[in-house]
Amino acid sequence: MKDIYIEEFNKLKTEVESCRKCALHESRNKIVFGNGSTDSKIFIIGEGPGYDEDKTGVAFVGKSGQLLEKIFQACGFERNKHIYIGNIVKCRPPQNRVPTIDEQRECLPYLEKQIELIDPKILVLLGSTALKAFFGLQSKITKERGQWKIYNNRYVMPTFHPSALLRNPSLKREAWEDFKMVIQKYREVVDAEHKCKYI
Ligand code: SF4
Repeated sequence: MKDIYIEEFNKLKTEVESCRKCALHESRNKIVFGNGSTDSKIFIIGEGPGYDEDKTGVAFVGKSGQLLEKIFQACGFERNKHIYIGNIVKCRPPQNRVPTIDEQRECLPYLEKQIELIDPKILVLLGSTALKAFFGLQSKITKERGQWKIYNNRYVMPTFHPSALLRNPSLKREAWEDFKMVIQKYREVVDAEHKCKYI
């Protein structure tokens, strides 16, 4: 991230930490602002914090996060070097329900500002909620995963949420195909020398 944006990014984080714009603030323990490298060219976007994330304030540290970590390793991506990761909403929805449209609408400007400041080349949308938040309620993850989209001049890859892969391991093969496309795009637009032992 350019130096001139760091102060703005930190200010945004401070603002989010005291946010009460939607009802999700009532039951949260910790805000999950997002984690990773602010110099990263890949921004991974999930739905919302779960139990472990709400306790720690860190994105994707529970079972889904552990699976995602394995995928990143297979891709040759390090979480604190190549990736920034966040969610559509920054406070945990009770019982991990899907955040309502109003909750998403209130929270999305924070994510959009993060994207603008970090300026990634590639967005990876994990699951239906993230896909719909960016491309509309008619979007279907089962149909649209694995196909590049464009959002504000950035390449966007929709794929399954890791929680779906945990529920249905047969989807892992398709998810890996999607991440292979992300590796190829990364080589094309960021680093032609990026190493991955599988492709
Ligand atoms: S989910 Fe987002 S908009 Fe709602 S209270 Fe938390 S930070 Fe604010």
